[in-house]
Amino acid sequence: MALASRLRRLLLGSDPRLARMLGYWAATCLLYLIGGILVVLQVRAGAADRDSAMLLVGIGVAGVAAFALLVRASGVLRISPSMLAVWQALYAIACNIGAYVVTGPLRGVYLIFLLVVMVFCAFSLRPRHTILLCASTLAMLGATMLWLVASDRVAYPAYIEGVHFVSAACALVSVTLLTGEMSKMRLRMKQQKEDLLDAMATIRQLATLDELTSLANRRHMNEVLVEQERRHDAAGQPTCIALIDLDFFKSVNDRYGHAAGDAVLRAFSNAARSALRSQDVLARWGGEEFLLLLPGAPPDQARMVVRRMAERVAAAPLTEVASDLRITFSAGIAQRQPGEPFADTITRADKALYDAKSSGRNRIREA
Ligand code: GH3
Ligand code: MG
Ligand code: MG
Repeated sequence: MALASRLRRLLLGSDPRLARMLGYWAATCLLYLIGGILVVLQVRAGAADRDSAMLLVGIGVAGVAAFALLVRASGVLRISPSMLAVWQALYAIACNIGAYVVTGPLRGVYLIFLLVVMVFCAFSLRPRHTILLCASTLAMLGATMLWLVASDRVAYPAYIEGVHFVSAACALVSVTLLTGEMSKMRLRMKQQKEDLLDAMATIRQLATLDELTSLANRRHMNEVLVEQERRHDAAGQPTCIALIDLDFFKSVNDRYGHAAGDAVLRAFSNAARSALRSQDVLARWGGEEFLLLLPGAPPDQARMVVRRMAERVAAAPLTEVASDLRITFSAGIAQRQPGEPFADTITRADKALYDAKSSGRNRIREA
């Protein structure tokens, strides 16, 4: 099983785009095979020259093998999928025109194969490139037919070549235009999908983050707490929470204005965030009040984190508001008891916070 998957990885790689390109290649293989069989049948029926036909079959087989290697190595060789598609298309067109030349009465079949090549291009080329390819195909086909009529009027009567050319031109141009529309639709759908993914990312961000501070919002924090209750009950680790409230924040608004107050809230968030451990979650609980979740922290460790936070916040530069302005906060810490709902832990932390406020502010109290 491991060997099979390793072999599959060696052949198809791990990039789904590469696997898709190899899938297209396999489909073209089938077409080359059918085209080759038709050439051989024509040789057997005596309608095609054996040497030219075998040379053409050899060229087809070599091309198919070379493109398998090129597609597989396109990442290493830095060949873009569209460039590879152009090469493959030009090669297939040349082979089909070659088959048109070497086969006898059945040569019209290869005009249908040209259409198939054009449809394949719609999957990997931009409409502009498909139009250029169509024009080159018609130029090559027209020149070949003129040459055939000029060299052997009996085997290649002018009116038959004329009918072949006009039919091929009508069909190729129609298919090119239709596939061009399909390509545009595909690009539009791709763009819409990207827009949708961006919109979903924005919605997810709006649903979880506080717009002003970029901290978790209250709604998201409640979800985190529910998840934490479940995990904590399973793991039995100590968990603390801290309710944090900025001191005399109203006076900042009153003295410097609401915009300055917003700047202070942002400065607090940045400074506070820098003091957290990787597993801590800080949320804006409302106004100038914040809730800190400290998973796996006993009270002494929680106190250490909150104290570090207080130092960083006190040192936070607030030059855009006023050079001498410093902010402090009061905090109430509570350890969650086994099986206790977080709502109750928060109520106890709130009481400790009230205690911190009433005993002078800029201090940490434990429930
Ligand atoms: P204390 O030390 O007792 O906590 O006093 P305080 O002034 O910090 O508390 P109080 O509850 O009296 O005032 C809080 C102020 O926070 C009132 C409100 O206008 C302000 N506030 C709440 N949300 C925002 C906000 O998003 N931006 C700004 N600029 N101010 C806000
Ligand atoms: Mg306050
Ligand atoms: Mg408050």
